[in-house]
Amino acid sequence: MSDTGKKRRVLLKLSGEAFGAGSLGVNPDVISGLAREIAEAAQTVEIAIVVGGGNFFRGAELSQRGMDRGRADYMGMLGTVMNALALQDFLEQAGAETRVQSAIAMTQVAEPYIPRRAERHLEKGRVVIFGAGAGLPYFSTDTVAAQRALEIGAEVVLVAKNGVDGVYSDDPRTNPDAHKIHSITYQDALQRGLKVVDSTAFSLCMDNSMPMRVFGMAPHGNVTAAILGAELGTLVSN
Ligand code: UDP
Repeated sequence: MSDTGKKRRVLLKLSGEAFGAGSLGVNPDVISGLAREIAEAAQTVEIAIVVGGGNFFRGAELSQRGMDRGRADYMGMLGTVMNALALQDFLEQAGAETRVQSAIAMTQVAEPYIPRRAERHLEKGRVVIFGAGAGLPYFSTDTVAAQRALEIGAEVVLVAKNGVDGVYSDDPRTNPDAHKIHSITYQDALQRGLKVVDSTAFSLCMDNSMPMRVFGMAPHGNVTAAILGAELGTLVSN
């Protein structure tokens, strides 16, 4: 909580890959662990979440294999909604109140995306999960995370990564000399072509002075710690 008694508000981005633990679909054990971490932090911090969908479909990959890009992107967005519902379920089992808002109308399963209403939910202590990305093809959920953070007035975008624990000087999977960077400016990250988060997301944050922290979701406890303000991973800012 801040000095004024107002709770801090953060935007957490969870990649779809994490939900699937490396395979297609959702892995309930992984999501339940994540949900417990988020529910714990939600007692003291207002949390909005953007979920990815890479464990189902990525539009760019499907289009390389012959599908129309727009249609493939809509499939990608629908995948994020499945992740949002799975996360909602496990968050509620962990004792958190939640709402899912979708950028594509599907009123039986989620509220429509209404930013003012999302803010009201957050003020009431509910975790708000944003599904269906921006509702627009050619966007990524990283970019949506930046946009939603700006629109709801979050203080930071927390990008929880699967398999990497921050921004590196090069791809650590292919270059053994790659080292982790503790803080970097958006300009530098863009100039050096660091791809841990997509360039549109970096630019949007840069232009609007929104800080971003990129960190690894392992080991268990990292997600709670990052939400509560621990300086994990890499801080990207102006
Ligand atoms: N997507 C989209 N518009 C959006 C957000 C997502 O078209 O606003 C589609 C896009 O095809 C993307 C897929 O949904 O590949 C899944 O999202 P993303 O790749 O960002 O998920 P993550 O890598 O975080 O799991």
